[in-house]
This record gives sequence, structure tokens and C-alpha cells, in this order.
Amino acid sequence: GGLTPSHGGATRTTCAYCGVGCGVIASPDGQGGATIAGDPDHPANFGRLCSKGSALGETLGLDGRLLTPQVGGVEASWDAALDLVADRFRETIAEHGPDSVAFYVSGQFLTEDYYVANKLMKGFIGSANIDTNSRLCMASSVAGHKRAFGEDVVPGTYADLEEAELIVLTGSNLAWCHPVLHQRVQAGGAKVVVIDPRRTVTADGADMHLALRPGSDVALWSGLLGHLFGEGCIDLDFAAHVEGMAGAASAPTLAQVAAATGLTKQELRAFYALWTRTEKVVSVYSQGVNQAADGTDRVNAILDCHLATGRIGKSGCGPFSVTGQPNAMGGREVGGLANMLAAHLDLENAAHREAVQGFWASPAIADKQGLKAVDLFRACADGRVKALWIMCTNPAVSMPEADAVRAAIRNVPFVVVSDIEAETDTVRLADVALPATGWGEKDGTVTNSERRISRQRAFLPAPGEAMDDWRIIAEVGKRMGWAEAFGWSCAAEVFDEWTRMTALSRDFGKVLDLTALEGCDYDAMAPVMWPVGGPERLFADGAFPRGKGQILAPRMGEMPLRDRRHPFTLNTGRVRDHWHTMTRTGRSAKLSLHIAEPFVEVHPADAAALGIAPAGLVRIASAHGAMIARAQVTDRVARGQLFAPIHWTGETASTARVDALVEGRVDPVSGQPALKGMAVEIKALAPA
Ligand code: SF4
Repeated sequence: GGLTPSHGGATRTTCAYCGVGCGVIASPDGQGGATIAGDPDHPANFGRLCSKGSALGETLGLDGRLLTPQVGGVEASWDAALDLVADRFRETIAEHGPDSVAFYVSGQFLTEDYYVANKLMKGFIGSANIDTNSRLCMASSVAGHKRAFGEDVVPGTYADLEEAELIVLTGSNLAWCHPVLHQRVQAGGAKVVVIDPRRTVTADGADMHLALRPGSDVALWSGLLGHLFGEGCIDLDFAAHVEGMAGAASAPTLAQVAAATGLTKQELRAFYALWTRTEKVVSVYSQGVNQAADGTDRVNAILDCHLATGRIGKSGCGPFSVTGQPNAMGGREVGGLANMLAAHLDLENAAHREAVQGFWASPAIADKQGLKAVDLFRACADGRVKALWIMCTNPAVSMPEADAVRAAIRNVPFVVVSDIEAETDTVRLADVALPATGWGEKDGTVTNSERRISRQRAFLPAPGEAMDDWRIIAEVGKRMGWAEAFGWSCAAEVFDEWTRMTALSRDFGKVLDLTALEGCDYDAMAPVMWPVGGPERLFADGAFPRGKGQILAPRMGEMPLRDRRHPFTLNTGRVRDHWHTMTRTGRSAKLSLHIAEPFVEVHPADAAALGIAPAGLVRIASAHGAMIARAQVTDRVARGQLFAPIHWTGETASTARVDALVEGRVDPVSGQPALKGMAVEIKALAPA
């Protein structure tokens, strides 16, 4: 067939970056590098790649790689390092209990890595203190899906983007953050509405741009729900499968929505009329929705409109959460978050816990939620966490209140960091640093935003002494006394155990079902959607895992986005050619050409009032930290608003480490931090 593991001698794999999950064909050059092309047969991208994916070959060199285990900054053998990690974790647990240790993992993990880490922490150590940087990415979508459907499921497929007549992109700069999906949107020819406080590149190409006031998303979408009811646009047949419809009665009026969002009644009427009269609507949402103190309510306000009108699970219809990271979805499936069990089962449900423990034949099972990302690092700061293992991520840069997080990590008596890089801001804080294999060197699977599982395949040898993450964790599990449970010999065996485990999801009425893949040919596995063998689109029949779908009709809460000392609202996000803290994209000279240095967007009127010159240096400060960057004076942001990218790193405020400014304020339902709107002040450093 078209999707064999190799393609003319080259290797088929999946892109290392975003949740689109594009298929990539890698042809090694024999000197440690590779030529990269889009896979014409992969159903996520059909041969397309964006700038980041195309430049993957430039990021493969071994400069700066961590190649041997380090203990106290000194090279050590694997045996010595692993024994030390196992001993210190075992001793800490014996002395202070299982909740005194924690893992912080990553949406860059492959599903197999995630599965093994979760199994060790929840089933064998017996704590749920494992959380992931995906908490910063899509935790609000997970919580919203669970409230509305009873399970964390994206109902639609990428093909819906081509089949829709109207696509609403809300809180999503798709053209830069998920470029291949944006190309698919353009290929489909649907009308496009962009809802974003900022005039992004995505908004430039849209038919309508609604520059709503930051924090007013719930009002906008609840207003649409009220409008749909007012116009009699409810699907009465589908309504039999949905509860909570009465909530629409409390939807805000048009005047109230206009007051909250700052949009004109005319703009609102035009958007509501378009949504209402178009049958095939996909509402795509991303970090602008998720990364907020009311992120879960925002998600549900969007899902409400699709549930009320039955615009779900049909061709060209549905709500669509696009995930930031390559395997945020896979991590959710195997329970790699502090509030979930594997296989979409619930920590709070005794029958679920018993089933998971039975499957693993494990000595323990976590019976309460663990520490979510922001709380996890606070527990490091106040001494509750005494041994911490950070894997495949750089929280000293990427977490809110990054300066405090750095201090918190320093405060933990024993810190292990597994990474591919020798010198990230987080690796520098490690007592033990463990060299992991990276993209192109390891085997495993990832799940993209449309529930499609694809293989990542090794096409380069593991450099130095680097080891796959799942194997490092399993080696520690064995040394802690659980040799049989962690005795896999390859990633395929881990995947096989995981597919068998999904029989539990099916038994408890969940959609996630991979059992048809049990015993499959892992090497040859073609991309496949779950439920494997089931329908591609879900819930058009109204069969929701919770019974009836649920309309939440949330109300808009208070959004403290400014105060007297900090009169500006800072929004954050990605640029087109960099990824997260640039540990990979920073290696490519070509990618750094697009935008070479950090910047902050300031409205011309604000710049004039504060004496900020175009390209002049400014200092931005919040109650938690400060950064310096070059001003980009532009009307892409509204007055009173600023925008800065998240990627740049560094030790001090003289660099633009934006997450040092972000307050660790979280959504109370999902635990996701509000990275998109914080109160700051801005000053010219060198006045014009
Ligand atoms: Fe990679 Fe995402 Fe670009 Fe596709 S769209 S090539 S998955 S970064």
C-alpha cells in the first residue's frame, strides 16, 4: 500500500512540532543529517509542510546535545545514574510518602513514553503527581469536552475544514501556529471569520475579523446561543439527546454582548446571522480560548452552539479544538495528566481505579488528583515535593511566574532532568541529567488533533549514550523493584500493552478504543484514527459517553486584566518559524531569519503617549517579573493591549522571557494557566 514504513529508501515519520501531525519523509544523508519532504500519502497533510516542518533537517546536528548521563555535573555511567535516581525516589517515598515525589512531562513525549511514566507514577508509586506542559496547552478543552460529552473527544476530522461552508477561527492564529491546517482551510474555500483581539496574519486573510475585547469570549458565544434560540434555529430532533437547553434563557442580550466585547451591534448581528444561516460550520479554537482563567467556560460556550443546533459529527460541521503540541492528544489518552487515569478513565471513580489497577496488576493506584502544573511547582517551592523528575520540557522558561518556578526547582532536594539538550535553562538546575533520544532517533506513536495515530520512526542512530525516554523510565521502575511490570524490550511492546488496555475504555462506554490494533505490525502501521474501526466522525447520532450531551451556558466572569499600576493587557503567542523555547528551531539559521529577536507590539497612540519609538527598547513589567524587548509600533493591537512572543529565553530580565511576567492564575476547572491576558506596565527604555 501507499503507506509503507519506507518510501523509496527513505523513512516515513511524523513532524516533531505541532498538533497537525503532518507526515514527513526523511532521507538521511549519511552524515547525521537528513533531507525532509512532506508525505504525499499522509492524510493530515497530503505532502504539505510548513516552514518549521521543512527545516527539520537543519535541526538534527549534535552540537549542544546531552550525550552522557551527568551526576552533579560530572559524567557518570547509566547504571550509576539510574541506581541513584531509583534509590533517591524510593528513599523519599519511604520517608515522606508517595505524594512527596512528582514527574513533570511533555506534549513532545511519544505515547509510549507518556504511558510508561503514567504507569510508574499512578500504579506503582501510587501518586497522581504527574503533570505535563500540555496543561498549558489544552487542559481547558479536555475539561470542556468532558463536561459536554462525558469524554475528551474531538468529534470531527480535518476533512471537515475542506467541506465546511463557514469556518470560525476563535483564539487561533492558524496561519502561523497550524499552517498546514490553514492551507487546508484555504483549499476548501469556506468563508472565514477570525475572532481575536489582535489583527493577526490569519485575520488579514479572513472575510470577517471580530477584534473582541480580551476576556469577552464567553459573552460573544453565549450571545450566539441566545440568538440561535431567538431565531428558532434549534435542532429539535437532536435536542432529545441534549440537556441544559434551558440555560439559553439566561444568554446575554445583543446590547450586553456589545458592551462586554467592545464590538458593534452591527458586527455582532452580521456574525450571528452568518453562523445561524450556514448549515456547515466548523468552529476551530485554540490557545486564545484555552489559556484563560475562564478557559473551560469559553470551550463550553462554543460547544453549546454546536450541540443546540446538531452541528456536530457531520461532514463539514462541528467544534474543533486544535492542539498545540505534537502529542498532546496521545498524552490525554494514556492519562498523562494529574487529574486523569489512563484510557480516559476517572481517578474519582472507584470502579475505574480498580479496573486500571487490575490491568496493571499494580501494588497501588492513585486515588485522588495530583498536583497540576502551577500547583506542582508551588509544592516544589514550599517543600512538599522533595524529588522531582522533569522530562522533555523546559519549565524554567515556559511556566508562568518562570522566575519563581526556577527558584522552586532549585528548592527541591533532588532534581532529575531528562532531555536531548545539555544546556537548557532547566537542565542547568538538575542534580542528575539523563540524555534522551530525540526526533528521528526514537520509535513510537503520536496522536494528532483529529484523533489520528501516526508512527514516529527512527532514521538516525541514537547519539552517544542517549536512551529513549520510555526506556529510561522503565529502567528506573525496574530498579525500584518492579522488573516484570516495566520489562518491555521495545516500543512496540509498550504500544501493544496500551492498545490492550483500551478495552477498559470500551467496557466503561467510552469512545477511545484501540483494541483492533492489538498485535498489529508496529513497523508497518499506517496512520489510523480512533475509535479504530469505528466511525471517523462522532456524536451525530446523539450517543454521548455521558448519556445526553450537556449545554452549560456559562456566564461571563470577572477578568482582572489591568489595574492602576499595570494599565496594559499583555497577550502572548507564537511566531511562525519558532517553536516553544526554541531548543530545536533555534538551531536553524533559516528559521531565525523570519523574526530574529523578541519584540512587543504596541499601538501607535500608546507609543506616542509613552515616548516609545519604533524599534526602541521597552521594559514591560508585571507583579511577577520584567522583560526587555524591542517595540513594534503597530495597529495590529488595540490601544491598551500589547503582544509578545513566548519563545525567547535567558537568565535575566534583560532578555524577553515573557513567561516570567505571567501570573500563575489558573482556570478553576481545568487548572490551565491564563497565559493570554495579564496586567502589565510598559516604559520606554531609551525615550524617543
Ligand atoms: Fe509540522 Fe505542524 Fe508544520 Fe505540519 S503544520 S509541518 S505538523 S509544524
